[in-house]
Amino acid sequence: MAKWLKHGAEAEAIKSADRKVRETVESILADIAERGDAAVRELSIRFDNLDRESYRLTVEEIATCYEQLSKRDIADIAFAQEQVRNFAQHQRDSMHDVEVETLPGVILGHKNIPVSAAGCYVPGGKYPLLASAHMSVITAKVAGVPRIITCAPPFNGKPAPAIVVAQHMAGADEIYCLGGIQAVAAMAIGTETIAPVDMLVGPGNAFVAEAKRQLFGRVGIDLFAGPTETLVIADDSVDGELCATDLLGQAEHGPDSPAILLTTSEKLAIETLAEIERLLEILPTANIARQSWDKFGEVIVADSDEEMRDIADKLAFEHVQVMTRNPDWFLQNLRNFGALFLGPRTNVAYGDKVIGTNHTLPTKQAARYTGGLWVGKFLKTCSYQKVLTDEASTHVGEYCSRLCALEGFAGHGEQANIRVRRYGHKNVPY
Ligand code: NAD
Repeated sequence: MAKWLKHGAEAEAIKSADRKVRETVESILADIAERGDAAVRELSIRFDNLDRESYRLTVEEIATCYEQLSKRDIADIAFAQEQVRNFAQHQRDSMHDVEVETLPGVILGHKNIPVSAAGCYVPGGKYPLLASAHMSVITAKVAGVPRIITCAPPFNGKPAPAIVVAQHMAGADEIYCLGGIQAVAAMAIGTETIAPVDMLVGPGNAFVAEAKRQLFGRVGIDLFAGPTETLVIADDSVDGELCATDLLGQAEHGPDSPAILLTTSEKLAIETLAEIERLLEILPTANIARQSWDKFGEVIVADSDEEMRDIADKLAFEHVQVMTRNPDWFLQNLRNFGALFLGPRTNVAYGDKVIGTNHTLPTKQAARYTGGLWVGKFLKTCSYQKVLTDEASTHVGEYCSRLCALEGFAGHGEQANIRVRRYGHKNVPY
C-alpha cells in the first residue's frame, strides 16, 4: 500500500477557487458579447493596465520588438520553432485521407479539412511564455489553417518583445496585445475590430482555461490546458537532486501548480524532500514555487511499478517524468498522461521549450480523454460516401428501409424506398 510522506494540504481549496473563477468568467463573457471593443478595452485597463486605441500590433511595433532581441535570442527561437515544425509536419504526414470500397459499389471516405480561422492564446502574466507561440501558431500553420490570430497579455505594461517575435516568426496573421478572459472572448465572439475565429487553442491560467471551457460550442477548443501539473515517477536509479529540480522546475509556473513525486524508494523520497528545501533557498523563482509546493506538493512511496502505474493513471497528470530502470515499461503500460518524458536524460523543460513535442497539454485529469495539442486538433475529419451502382443502392436501401421501420422513421424509410423503386425496379410501398 502506498504511503504519503507529504500531502498537498490545500487540494480542496482549488475547488472553491474554481467556483469564483467560473462566475468571473461568466460575467466577463456576457459583457464582451454585449459591448464588444468597449468592454475589451475596459477589462484590459482593469486587469492589465493597458489602454490602447487598437490592441492589434502594427508592423512598426513588431519591428521594434525584433530590435530588442539579440541575434542569439532570435536564432534560439528559430531553432525551437524548427523542432516544433518538423515534428508537427511528421504528424501531419501520418494523417491520411481515407477512401475505401466497403461493399461492391459503396465508397466511403474521410477528408481532413483545416478549420478556417484559429485564435492562439500565448500566456504572459507571470512569465513571457514565448514557447506557446511555437506550439499553437506553428502547429496551426502546418495543419493548413488559412487565418491564424494570436493574443498575449502585456508584460511589464507593454508587449513582450520575445513573445511578439515568436508569434511573428511562427507566421501569425494578426498579433494582439491582449490577455486573459478578454483575449479569448474577443477572439471567439468577435468585436467590431477583431473578426471571430472558429477554434481557440493554447494554454493559460485558470481564467483563460475556464473562459475557453465556457466558450466551447460557440467555437472549438483544443483542450482544457490550465495551470501546469507535474508528476515525477522515480526509483533508486536516480538521486534526490534530480527529482527535486524537476519538481520545482514546474512548481515555479504559478502558485497553483501541483508537483508530485511518486517513488518506490523511501530513501529517495526523504532525500528529495531535503533537496527541495535546499533548492528553495537558492531558486530565483522560489517565492512562487514555495507556495505551490507547500499547498499542493506531494511525496508518495509505493510498493511497486504496478502500484505507481495505477496511482499515475488515477492522477492523469499533464506532465509525467519517468526516471526508473525501465522507463519504457511505463510507456507501454500507462494510459492517462498529457505527455511522457522518459529517462533521466530528458525532462519537462525540454518539452516545454525546445525539443519539438507540443507543450499545450491537458490538466485537471483531462488526460483521461485527450492528449495534447497537435495538428490533428486543427483538422476536421469529415466523412463522405458515394454509391456507384444501382445494385449497391438497392442492396443498402432494403436494409435501410427495414431498419427505419424498426425505429418508426417513415420519412427516413421513404428516402430508401424511393431508391429501391427507382434503381432496383422493385415495388416498395410507401
Ligand atoms: P496568462 O496569460 O494565462 O494570464 C494572465 C491574464 O489573466 C492577465 O492578462 C489578466 O487579464 C488575467 N487575470 C489575472 N488576474 C485576473 C482576475 N483576478 N480576474 C480576471 N482576469 C485576471 O498568464 P499566467 O497568469 O502567467 O498563467 C499562465 C498559466 O499557463 C500558468 O498557470 C501555467 O501553468 C499555464 N500553462 C499551462 C500549460 C498547459 O499546457 N497546460 C502550458 C504552459 C503554461
